[in-house]
Amino acid sequence: MSKTPVKFSPFMFKEKLTNRLYVCKNCSGYTLLHMEHCSHCSQAKGYFTMEQFISKKYRLTFQSDIFLLLFLLFIAVFFTFHLSSIVIIGTIGAAAIIFFSIFKLLMRSSEKKHFLMNQVIADREKIKRGIQVNKKFAEKKVQNSAYLEAYEILRIIGLFWNDDSIKELKLICLNTFIIRKDMQLEMDTVVPNRYSKEFITYLGSAAKVQRHLVNKKILDYVVTYERQIQEHFSNEIFITVAGSALRMKQYFLIYEDFIMKYVDEMPRERVIRLYQLLESINSYEIGESKKRAHQLLLSKFNEDPFAAALH
Ligand SMILES: [Zn+2]
Repeated sequence: MSKTPVKFSPFMFKEKLTNRLYVCKNCSGYTLLHMEHCSHCSQAKGYFTMEQFISKKYRLTFQSDIFLLLFLLFIAVFFTFHLSSIVIIGTIGAAAIIFFSIFKLLMRSSEKKHFLMNQVIADREKIKRGIQVNKKFAEKKVQNSAYLEAYEILRIIGLFWNDDSIKELKLICLNTFIIRKDMQLEMDTVVPNRYSKEFITYLGSAAKVQRHLVNKKILDYVVTYERQIQEHFSNEIFITVAGSALRMKQYFLIYEDFIMKYVDEMPRERVIRLYQLLESINSYEIGESKKRAHQLLLSKFNEDPFAAALH
């Protein structure tokens, strides 16, 4: 399949989730996609963000509490026959309502959070249904080869629901794009819980242009599925991943065996990096690896390692 150049819309992977979840003004169905027609009731009455929805609910509850207090105060005044008692009850009642309003105002933020939690727990199944509808919509986009649109929808869905099926769909899309250095690429959020050829294909392209994406989670995955990867891919993927792991001493100490297995095929610049990294670690336990990196620079690249390390 030929790959296409794409430009992603700006996206925050750690965005406040309440900004991304919408509630239909007509049927109160949930959705992550701000589409003109609600995918539950097909009406075009618009949406509340979850934040607006909770604020509205909180305001209505507050108003009904105030009305109830005013009603109780009215009843108390109504059944009081002495003017002095009416004045006392009226004053105490009005003061109580003012204190209640101030208290609610001060507690607003924490009470709204509580409201939100209760709403999410009560509507859990309804929210899941909404996300399932959004996922089906994204699947249809994938089937119609609208990969960029599908990927951007899946990125949002992934904030809420990021199981292997969502990750696989994201990877199918990502593998149709030309991966560039300047792209906002995700990695940890597409690592599946099982072996996936789509993931390894993506990892191969992404790690080549953005080495920092290779971290402990990725190294663990590659080491765990090394045998399966070897069945479908050339050593290039291991060379890229092992070469990227040379960013940190800690990675070398944990994955020494894995990295050293592929060191012979690494490009010159990575071997120099390995040599420099090993020189900065004071441990007799990596003596063998140090010797090998030294020999590799001398024999394969015909260079004095000390001169090479200056590059
Ligand atoms: Zn609706």
